[in-house]
Amino acid sequence: MSVKNFPLDKDRLEALEKTYPTPFYLYDEGAIRDNARRMVRAFSSNVPGFKEHFAVKALPNPFILKILNDEGLGADCSSLPELLLADMAGIRGEEIMFSSNETPSAEYRKARELGAVINLDDFTHIEFLENTLGRLPELLSFRYNPGPLKKGNLIIGNPEEAKYGFTREQLIEGYRLLKARGVRRFGLHTMVASNELSLDYHLETARLLFDLAVEIKRQTGISLEFVNLGGGLGIPYRPEQEAPSWETLAGGIRRLYDDIIVPASLGGLAIHTEYGRPITGPYGWLVTRAIHRKNIYRDYIGLNSCMADLMRPALYGAYHHITIPGKEREPLTETYDVVGSLCENNDKFAIRRQLPHIDVGEHTGDFVVIHDAGAHGRAMGFNYNGKLRCGELLLREDGSVLPIRRAETVEDYFATLDLAALPCFNG
Ligand SMILES: *Cc1c(COP(=O)(O)O)cnc(C)c1O
Repeated sequence: MSVKNFPLDKDRLEALEKTYPTPFYLYDEGAIRDNARRMVRAFSSNVPGFKEHFAVKALPNPFILKILNDEGLGADCSSLPELLLADMAGIRGEEIMFSSNETPSAEYRKARELGAVINLDDFTHIEFLENTLGRLPELLSFRYNPGPLKKGNLIIGNPEEAKYGFTREQLIEGYRLLKARGVRRFGLHTMVASNELSLDYHLETARLLFDLAVEIKRQTGISLEFVNLGGGLGIPYRPEQEAPSWETLAGGIRRLYDDIIVPASLGGLAIHTEYGRPITGPYGWLVTRAIHRKNIYRDYIGLNSCMADLMRPALYGAYHHITIPGKEREPLTETYDVVGSLCENNDKFAIRRQLPHIDVGEHTGDFVVIHDAGAHGRAMGFNYNGKLRCGELLLREDGSVLPIRRAETVEDYFATLDLAALPCFNG
């Protein structure tokens, strides 16, 4: 069982709404720091050279990146804006992992300028990078696609069908080529799952990479500097699911390390990760209000938000737990579809969900809190149907609230239109 907490009670929300109207995202700084500390402690006490590069795409806000960097985490970026966000947060040099694909040259140049670790997604990018930069950097990493050796899962698909990474043969040839071109430091990376709760699955991935590191040494003479196990560790979206334990995961990786890496005299190999979801996911909530109720063939609760703010339910049929502040102990007597205002029928935060009776009203309706939205939440949003995305608030450790991103306005939505060139425009 995982407990579904929300850090503010109804009175506090009522007070907060006077300054920050719903909908908004709320992130709990204390809980994020505590989790990051537990993770770093678990790994650092088990494996050498541990570094977590937080996947920026999960929560691309520099205030959050700064908090995580305070706790010793770096950043995993895959676009120019993500590199700039890491830079804004003071994350420097090799604390940044640049794991991109189909990468334009300008992005490689920026990654190089920031001193990021560049992780190549394809064999042909060795030459592309050399042509872009003039010469290859001293340190390079390759992304491995294990193909038929590894089963994927529902969100990310099977590795064999995935566009990412090098084949095994390309890897060996690639490292030989790098060595011949003067590269002196080498990394290996993979990312094969998404939201996978099974620790055995992640340990199998570690075993695959450790065996490969030994094979690379045997075939090329190269001792890798690090192995990056990627992200993809799941969180318990459903209350009946259990959160994976950092200690158990790190302990399992250590046993594999002792069995495979140490006997192969690769004992200096550092372990890196790039988790996103389990770092911030459980510590962010989308806070909305119930404004309408309609009863047709099903009973609907309409929120003042929509899938522009949180796409996961529509995109993956994902479950997000919902609670009603002030009604936590009331019996679940109703069966509602909880929906947003976008003109797409999959704009549903919950389908046939058992909930307490919900009161509706634009200013008086119940608050509806959507849990586990702290990763791949607001970040995935979009403006389809003229929907404006909500802002983000940070709950500080002293209980105060800091706005860290305002809500979008119509001016933001129109900002990219060149209205001066519109004949009838007179504003
Ligand atoms: C998305 C992504 C991650 C993070 O995934 P989570 O599921 O949030 O842990 C890490 N690395 C790469 C390359 C990714 O694309």
